Amino acid sequence: MSGMEITFLGTGVGIPQAGRVQSGVLMDIEDKTLLFDCGCGVLGRIYESGHAHKDIEGIVLTHLHLDHVSDVLALIKANWLVGRTDMRLYGPQGTREWFEKTLDVYDYLRDRFTVEITELSPGDEFKPGGADCSIRCAKTVHTGNSLAYRIESKGKSVVYTGDTEPCEAVMELAEGADVLIHECSFPLGFPMTNHTTPDMLTLMMEEYPLNVRELYLTHIYPHMQGHEREAVDHIRKYFDGKVMIAKDLMEIKL
Ligand SMILES: [Zn+2]
Ligand SMILES: [Zn+2]
Repeated sequence: MSGMEITFLGTGVGIPQAGRVQSGVLMDIEDKTLLFDCGCGVLGRIYESGHAHKDIEGIVLTHLHLDHVSDVLALIKANWLVGRTDMRLYGPQGTREWFEKTLDVYDYLRDRFTVEITELSPGDEFKPGGADCSIRCAKTVHTGNSLAYRIESKGKSVVYTGDTEPCEAVMELAEGADVLIHECSFPLGFPMTNHTTPDMLTLMMEEYPLNVRELYLTHIYPHMQGHEREAVDHIRKYFDGKVMIAKDLMEIKL
């Protein structure tokens, strides 16, 4: 495979619902695989998508909420069980402390593997080890340290917001990207902060016109059920590119 391929593993949230596990997006970049977020259910979805968990070069976390991290240790343990004992973990400030404290609880795992942790800040740009791409970080409006990422490889670009309110930093990060994966947790008109609704997103788009080819909405709460069509129709009034609500195991080729 050449180019980039995106697989939505989990498009749901902390509340269980049919067909959507918690957050996870897999990106195959020139034959190397990176995983963005790893919430509950994502490890199983990696298998269902036809990928091998032991072949993931690195895990990149947007923030440390449980619905984005709860399968991280499960994935590393699954690797250990099949003989892979190293992992690269990238995430916002606090990732090292979170991982160390989690390992304190599962002390029997402590010496089984080596995890190389890189903590990131807004504005950082890095090349994840083992993968042929560069990644730029921007602050989102969600937790104190939450980050969005722009992944670039051979002229293709994908932006993944993690959890956020629509914000200027994300719009700037997304400028000119092929694909924007933006969270859209709640339906049109739902009163909310720290997350996105379709009308919050289009309000932002009126100020910062969205210049991307394709927009995929993810991090879908059960509240959105029955309001999917309305969400997409609303955004189409403000955006000429392709708009879709992502589904678990949906694939995009770039
Ligand atoms: Zn969150
Ligand atoms: Zn979340």
